[in-house]
Amino acid sequence: MDSSLANRIEITQGDITKQKVDAIVNAANSSLLGGGGVDGAIHRAGGSAILDECRAIRARQGGCKTGEAVITTGGRLPATHVIHTVGPVWNGGQKGESALLAACYRNSLRLATGHQLASVAFPGISTGIYGYPKQEAAAIAVREVRQWLAAHDFPRTVVFVAFDEENRRLYEQALTLPALFIWPRVGLARPAPCVG
Ligand code: ADP
Repeated sequence: MDSSLANRIEITQGDITKQKVDAIVNAANSSLLGGGGVDGAIHRAGGSAILDECRAIRARQGGCKTGEAVITTGGRLPATHVIHTVGPVWNGGQKGESALLAACYRNSLRLATGHQLASVAFPGISTGIYGYPKQEAAAIAVREVRQWLAAHDFPRTVVFVAFDEENRRLYEQALTLPALFIWPRVGLARPAPCVG
């Protein structure tokens, strides 16, 4: 990775609701009305102002489709904004999941760029209740963030927040891979050769 890009990507382990960044990204569901996992944690920590804005967005556009993203206040969070994106439910890998997951990262980053946010923190979208294989999800996350940062001045910094040790290692591993590397589909024992 070119070194200026490497300086703009960080990995941290812990609770995303504690991150002091301009925006944290929420792994929301299409209702935007809150749920379990990181979504529940964000709404609990950020308070009702986030849900109020989510409801207003629902009234305007009827929720948020898979792969898309919307932005609200961060309420009482240290982060000023929350970008809510709806990841795909893992369904074996042949239902467009990887393209939808990539779209989540790009559409979240597009909002950050549009709002000139300097720093954004991502959890592992879809890797909890939605069941996306974590290694492949980390590789997609890293690929999309690298490509976006290479082409845009904002956000300046992206933080991958790993909830546990295993996820931290997966991000570290993904960051050492060549830019075009993508882990093979689940079921193959070894990494596929680099394409392109
Ligand atoms: P999804 O429904 O998109 O799978 P989840 O909230 O179930 O979303 O999980 C997404 C990821 O967020 C998982 O890897 C989970 O371990 C992680 N996670 C859950 N709570 C937090 C938190 N407070 N901070 C950071 N990551 C979290």
